[in-house]
Amino acid sequence: MAETTRTGIMLIGAPGSGKGTQAKKLKETLGYAHISTGDLLRAAVKAGTELGKQAKSFMDAGALVPDELVIGLLKEAIVKPEADKGFILDGFPRTSVQADALDAEVTLDKVINIKVPFELIEERVTGRRMSKSGHVYHVKYNPPKVEGVCDVTGEELYQRSDDTAAKVKERLDKFVAETEPVIPRYQAKGIVVEVDGVGTPDEVFARISAVL
Ligand code: AMP
Repeated sequence: MAETTRTGIMLIGAPGSGKGTQAKKLKETLGYAHISTGDLLRAAVKAGTELGKQAKSFMDAGALVPDELVIGLLKEAIVKPEADKGFILDGFPRTSVQADALDAEVTLDKVINIKVPFELIEERVTGRRMSKSGHVYHVKYNPPKVEGVCDVTGEELYQRSDDTAAKVKERLDKFVAETEPVIPRYQAKGIVVEVDGVGTPDEVFARISAVL
């Protein structure tokens, strides 16, 4: 695929580092497509598609979904018209096989490595609550006005099946073993920027905006 005009930004970081929150803010300000393989997979599970059925048990276990399933989703998302101006990758790639597939398709402009100390991750992840339409809250840091109810849609909030204390360790281990090792290939291209992910979403967003 010819890659000349559109901007590609990758957000990389541990579970709970704020990738999704920051990607949404970037989408609003830049008008780029937000491509979250986690969101795409959750939508497939909810819709009961064949892919969703195959992915569900891996996701519930806090494990990675097999590369071939996720790569297919990414390839579909990246050619959609919404991504014509630019795209923000959130949660992809998570393995070197995925990074190989990505690099064969597109050229990235920036990789934002959002750093949050692992001791803060558990509280962030286990306190996260979502609405079905994708609004995200935190019971302590960003609570809804009415407990358990989405401010925007009135939907009941739920906890992701993989956002439990038991699954966080597994997900962090996977991040260290499988995902962090993709960073050096982008460092070699000089496009990686580290951003401190501790603080409010607005504070972190200001840091990201400053480096873009
Ligand atoms: P996330 O919303 O990014 O935290 O993703 C939620 C879950 O979806 C992960 O714990 C994995 O089970 C699965 N998942 C999302 N993105 C990927 C990916 N790029 N590769 C493999 N599994 C993924």
